[in-house]
Amino acid sequence: QVRVRYAPSPTGLQHIGGVRTALFNYFFARANGGKFILRIEDTDRERSTVEALHDLYDTLDWLGITWDEGPQVGGPYDPYIQSERYAVYREYARKLVEDGKAYYCYCTAERLEQVREEQQATKSPYQGYDRHCRDLTPEERARKEAEGVSPVIRLKVPLEGSTTFHDVLMGDITRMNKDVNPDPVLLKSDGFPTYHLANVIDDHLMGITHIMRAQEWIPSGPLHILLYEAFDWEPPIYCHLPMVMGNDGHKLSKRHGSTSVKDFREKGYLPEALMNYVSMVGWSYDGQREFFSKDELEKVFSLEKITKSPGVFDYKKLDWYNGHYIRLKGDAELASLLEPYLQQSGCIGTPPTETEQRKVLEIVPLVKERLKVLSDVVPMTSFIFSDPGFPAVADLLPKKQDAEQTLEVLGQAYGILRSMVEAGSPYEEIESHLAAFAGEAGVKVNGVFQPIRVAVTGSTVSPPLFDSIRVLGAETSFSRIERAID
Ligand code: GLU
Repeated sequence: QVRVRYAPSPTGLQHIGGVRTALFNYFFARANGGKFILRIEDTDRERSTVEALHDLYDTLDWLGITWDEGPQVGGPYDPYIQSERYAVYREYARKLVEDGKAYYCYCTAERLEQVREEQQATKSPYQGYDRHCRDLTPEERARKEAEGVSPVIRLKVPLEGSTTFHDVLMGDITRMNKDVNPDPVLLKSDGFPTYHLANVIDDHLMGITHIMRAQEWIPSGPLHILLYEAFDWEPPIYCHLPMVMGNDGHKLSKRHGSTSVKDFREKGYLPEALMNYVSMVGWSYDGQREFFSKDELEKVFSLEKITKSPGVFDYKKLDWYNGHYIRLKGDAELASLLEPYLQQSGCIGTPPTETEQRKVLEIVPLVKERLKVLSDVVPMTSFIFSDPGFPAVADLLPKKQDAEQTLEVLGQAYGILRSMVEAGSPYEEIESHLAAFAGEAGVKVNGVFQPIRVAVTGSTVSPPLFDSIRVLGAETSFSRIERAID
C-alpha cells in the first residue's frame, strides 16, 4: 500500500512550494488508494513556532486537504510530531553506536572551530569534521566520560566506495563516499536529533513508501541512503519534485511577489483556484487540459506526469484561474464571499444590515465578470456604499477636452439623463440617446460618459455606468453630478 507524507518544518508561513509538495503527496495517495500522512518536523526548537504550526493547519483546512494519520487525528504510529518522539531517536542513535555504525564524539566547539580555521588557512581540499573521535580507544572514551563531556553521536560514513540513490525523475544519482559530509552529527549533545536522523527513522517506522519532496533535498539523498544502510533498512522510492520558479527563471521567492498562502487567501484567491493552478506547476495531465477539480485530481494524479523541468509560477495565470472559479460561483455564494472584504474596508457593517446584504447581492452581477481577486470588489464598488467625495477635476476631463467644455457637456448630458430617468425610459435607451448627443456636441462618446462616471463613482474605472447608477440609486447619482457641475 502506498504511504506518503508531507513533513513540513513549522518555521514560517506555508508557501507555494510547500503546498505544492503537500498536494502532490495527497493526490498521489488518493489516486493509489494509499495513505497521506502529516508529520511535523519541529526538531529545530529555535526556529519552530506555534504560529507557523497554526498556519499549516489553517492552510490545509482551507484547501480541504485532510490527512489520514498525523497530529489531531492520530494513527498507528502516534505521535506524529517529532518533538514528542525524542526517546525514539535516542534509542536508534545508540543502537547505531552499538552496531559500530556511529560513534560518540567529544570534540568541543572550540576544537571544531580550530579545525575549520586550519583547513581554511592551508586551503585543505578536505573540508569538515576531521573524524578525530572516530577511532578513540575505549580508554580514551572512558577518560572523556569521566571528565563529564556530553558527546554527540556521529555517523561513520564509509571512507571508500560510493553511494547511489535512485530518483524516479532524475534516475541514478551517485556520490563518492569520500565526498559525503564527513560524519554528520545524528544526535546532538543535548540529546536532540538532527533533521537527517529523525527524518530517516520516522520515514522507516511510519512505513513510508514514496518520498516526494523539494529538489533542494537531493544533496541529502546519499547521506540518507547511508543511514538506511547503517540501520539495515530498505530505503523508500524517491521522487524529488521540480523546482518552482518565478517568470525570470529564478527560484520563486518574495522578490517575485507574495509566496505565502496566507497572503493569497487574504487577497481573495479561491482555494479551488490556487489548488488547481499550483497542481499544474510541474505536473500536467496531457499538456492541454488546465481545469481540474480536487476530486478529479484525486483520481488522475500520477508520478509519471510530473515534469522533469522546473515549473514556472505565473501570477497572471493564477489570476486567470481565479477569475474562472469566481465566475463559476452562484450570485448568493459570491456575495457571501465578498462580504468580509466589504466589512473589512468599512463599506458595510459587521455584521451587515439586511439592506447592506441586499446591496451586496445587487452588486454581484456588476463585478462578477471583472473580479480577479475577491478584494477587488472594494475599489470597484466602494462608491456605492460611501460618498467618493468631490471628483478630481483632472479625472473628469477626457482627452482633448478642456474644463469649460467638459462642464458644459456634462450639464447638458445631465439634463437629458435626468428627464429620461424621470420619464421612466429604460437605461439602454438613455445610453444610446447620450451617445447621439455626444455627436451633436462634437465630442467623443467618452467625452460624455467619462465625466458622468467620475462624478457618480469617483473613478475613471467602474462597473458599467448605468448599472452603477441603478444600484446606487438615481437620486444619489443626480446629486453627485450636480455637485461636480457646481
Ligand atoms: N522537514 C523538511 C522540510 O521542511 C522535510 C524534508 C523531507 O520531506 O524529507 O522541508
